[in-house]
Amino acid sequence: MRPAKERIVEKPPKIQGMKPMGVPGRLLEKISLSIDEYEAIRLSDFEGMDHKASSEYMNISRPTFTRLLQSGHQKIADAIVNVKDLIIEGGNYSFTKILIRCLDCKAVSDIGAYHTDETLCPECNSTNVVCLNNVFQPGHCNRRRNFGGHGFRNQ
Ligand SMILES: [Zn+2]
Repeated sequence: MRPAKERIVEKPPKIQGMKPMGVPGRLLEKISLSIDEYEAIRLSDFEGMDHKASSEYMNISRPTFTRLLQSGHQKIADAIVNVKDLIIEGGNYSFTKILIRCLDCKAVSDIGAYHTDETLCPECNSTNVVCLNNVFQPGHCNRRRNFGGHGFRNQ
């Protein structure tokens, strides 16, 4: 069986999920929004890109894009209406850019496609930074060597 084609996702979400207010976590059902569904919602609903441009951006067909967007909408609606923990996880995708979070000034910055030992926080020049891509794809950023190739694809 041919492996499913990876969808292009520009960069990781800044958070791993959202919790309903005022309900103890242990009582909550969870619902998973995949990273590729998140990206479809970001491009279409947040950035306002049309379906054709969004599907090309993610390197998928327009029907596939429409399905991702619909399933993403359904899950967010379910989370709000039925009071569920929304967890952003999983999916079939490759990140093209890296987001870092500075542990000193807390800024989250887009540093492009490469991450090295010398990567500094663009806001305060601290070296105390973590790669948010690793949260979703462990090992995506490796601080000991140049990041070259894994999870990255030229378009
Ligand atoms: Zn900083």
